Amino acid sequence: MLRAAFISLSESKSLRSAAEKTWTGRRVSRRFVAGTTIEDALAATQAMNRLGLSVSVDNLGENVTNADEARHSAQLYHRLLDRMSEQGLDANVSLKLTHMGLDVDEAMAYQISSEVVEHAVRINNFVRVDMEGSPYTQRTLDFVHRLHRAPGLAGHVGAVIQSYLFRSEKDVEDLIACGIRIRLCKGAYKESPQIAFEKKTDVDANYIKLMKMLLKSGIYHGMATHDERMIRATIEFAQKEKIPPQAFEFQMLYGVRRDLQQRLVKEGWRCRVYIPFGTEWYPYFMRRLAERPANMLFIIKNLFR
Ligand SMILES: Cc1cc2nc3c(=O)[nH]c(=O)nc-3n(C[C@H](O)[C@H](O)[C@H](O)COP(=O)(O)OP(=O)(O)OC[C@H]3O[C@@H](n4cnc5c(N)ncnc54)[C@H](O)[C@@H]3O)c2cc1C
Repeated sequence: MLRAAFISLSESKSLRSAAEKTWTGRRVSRRFVAGTTIEDALAATQAMNRLGLSVSVDNLGENVTNADEARHSAQLYHRLLDRMSEQGLDANVSLKLTHMGLDVDEAMAYQISSEVVEHAVRINNFVRVDMEGSPYTQRTLDFVHRLHRAPGLAGHVGAVIQSYLFRSEKDVEDLIACGIRIRLCKGAYKESPQIAFEKKTDVDANYIKLMKMLLKSGIYHGMATHDERMIRATIEFAQKEKIPPQAFEFQMLYGVRRDLQQRLVKEGWRCRVYIPFGTEWYPYFMRRLAERPANMLFIIKNLFR
């Protein structure tokens, strides 16, 4: 119930424009968002690297409505990649195709996304294409396959798979067959029972099934979850199959289960933190509340400290 309510609120344009403009809104979002500028994201990245954690930085934003906005978003990624390289940070970038203008002009979105991946290739870095709601699943996977096939880009771009979707097993098979790196997550959007598992137990069972396919593929993948059961199942499977800790990584969100991130690193596992920054934090922030409505109480308490 609450999850659905927060996801609906995350799609409200009027609430979004009101919230993103206010000082209180920005302050509240700080729990999950590193700040509004590239400098904020780099400072947070340095702090994570000092703790032995890798990073993926996401310039927040989705569903841009014109080509200029899309080009501006891509420009920020170019600056970010340069700064990461100059500072020798252990970090890559994550982007959303609707932020690159997928809904405005598909050819332009491909052009500017491929330029970001080409930039990553030049500095030996990597671009993860985040997965959005199901209207974008096929188009996003097509984009990633196409980018991966482009001359010189293979290995520098990766996809995201959501274990709540029925189709994901087949998508994993196709991506693995092409040698494409995958981030496996449960999925953060509201999807219909026609296409997605509704029960947490089913989403989790599918996560474990897909995790095993990924670990056995010999390709470097990311297991994105804060669920200790998923993490334990991954570690047990890796140990049983003698898959070394360097062969894959765990991934978690900035501000979520920092204790667990640290614990994994101390135990010798790799862990990457997804750091979002930018002024357009509202939909991302609301999806984090949807995952754990109790976060709302925590945030309200901190606001009055
Ligand atoms: C690195 C990363 C990248 C992601 N990229 C995408 C993407 O591209 N597309 C997409 O659809 N989704 C993405 N997600 C979100 C993901 O799909 C889930 O919505 C989210 O991770 C919650 O699922 P969970 O696996 O942590 O398990 P859940 O079963 O939701 O949670 C397990 C436990 O984790 C803790 N927890 C989970 N979420 C929170 C939170 N917000 N605050 C505090 N505690 C929490 C709680 O203790 C909870 O009991 C990403 C997640 C991560 C970690």
